[in-house]
Amino acid sequence: MKMSIPEVTISQLIASYDALALDAFGVLVDESGAGEESRRLINHLNRIHKPYWIVTNGSSREPAQMAAYYQRLGLAVPPGRVITSGCLLMDYFKEQSLQGTRVACLGTTGSRNMVEQAGGRLVDPLKEGSFDVLVVSNQTEYPFLETIDAVISAIIRQRDDGKVVRLVLTNPDLIYPKGKAAFGITSGAIALLIEQVLAVRYPGSRDNLFVRLGKPFAPIFKMLCSVAQTRNIVMIGDQIDTDIQGARSYGLDAVLYTRGVTKIDTLSFAGEPRPNFLLNSLWDGE
Ligand SMILES: [Mg+2]
Repeated sequence: MKMSIPEVTISQLIASYDALALDAFGVLVDESGAGEESRRLINHLNRIHKPYWIVTNGSSREPAQMAAYYQRLGLAVPPGRVITSGCLLMDYFKEQSLQGTRVACLGTTGSRNMVEQAGGRLVDPLKEGSFDVLVVSNQTEYPFLETIDAVISAIIRQRDDGKVVRLVLTNPDLIYPKGKAAFGITSGAIALLIEQVLAVRYPGSRDNLFVRLGKPFAPIFKMLCSVAQTRNIVMIGDQIDTDIQGARSYGLDAVLYTRGVTKIDTLSFAGEPRPNFLLNSLWDGE
């Protein structure tokens, strides 16, 4: 069935679209770093001044830190070309008038910095028993069980007093590869856990649910279109349920990169969102 989706080359994509959106992990980089094709592609896009953005769900590092990380891997990516799910907090806090609210953030120093840049006032859930917003960004840099218990207790205490805590999830990913045949959970899995626990106490309440900002949800694609100032963008990703589904639902074209995590042979494209094209290589130049 794979044959029913046409193959495309990177040169054809560059020629056909105003801008490229590139997934990071599984496309440009993997556990072993960035390959030669990725380096050539980024150098080429920079040289011809082709608009492109790296669109990634990671929200442990700020865009400048992400760019520095890509640069260490040999990818000449300027910070302005990085859109992370953490960047979306800025718009979300503005739209929802959450600036100045008290925010507990589960995540790294970088995650907390992005909450502060969005206008949130950080509180430590291990020290303070109440907050207005919970932002779940990352699974590292806090004592896990202790913090989850404190956060859930604070939410339930406040809900029982009639106050709803706003729940925001930057990175909806559930799992990530940690090396060969090893995996780790990420913030999406933590949000699911909290939602399920709250559902035990408040069955059926919509207040149990997180607002999700990263792929496949609309906010990250909305930001991409707004930064790129066009909708003639193609998303190049390696995961059907984040990159392809997200872009297609938002009305953008999407290309499945066949050398990432999705096992192409197992796809029927019957039930899944269909990519417009398949891409087998990031570089077809000399
Ligand atoms: Mg990926």
